[in-house]
Amino acid sequence: MTLTEACKRFPTRESCVWHLERVVWRGGPVCPYCRSANQTPSKGTFRRHCNNCNTSYSATVGTIFHQTHIDLRCWFVAIARELAEPGSCTARRLSNDISVSKDTACRMLAKIRNASHEELALLKKVVDAGRMIGKIGTKGKASKKRITVKRKK
Ligand SMILES: [Zn+2]
Repeated sequence: MTLTEACKRFPTRESCVWHLERVVWRGGPVCPYCRSANQTPSKGTFRRHCNNCNTSYSATVGTIFHQTHIDLRCWFVAIARELAEPGSCTARRLSNDISVSKDTACRMLAKIRNASHEELALLKKVVDAGRMIGKIGTKGKASKKRITVKRKK
């Protein structure tokens, strides 16, 4: 998957966050600190205010996207690449493809490669649900074939 394809699928920052929220929260926002579902959306941001423990949070808390300044679409591309062919994407290639510095690409790949089992399962859902692994059906027709990702040992 290319950045252009990711931008087509997620044209705005909002669409990326909504996608992430759908995958991370499924049934609705849950506070990552106290697990309470009692929350109020913070106006004008993607954050929620937890009415139980009084902290604010977004869907990125506890994920590799937490406090990232990198466009989520770049992350999605990097994750899709890494999951499709673990260990095969080089920092140089990724940096060229998503227009970030080589150091940034290197850090992104390290984060993905060091992700825990649970984190990886979530990341797989993020790119799977966005239909970004493997061949994406042409002309808007997504392939119905289920794609499995094998991780090399
Ligand atoms: Zn809370």
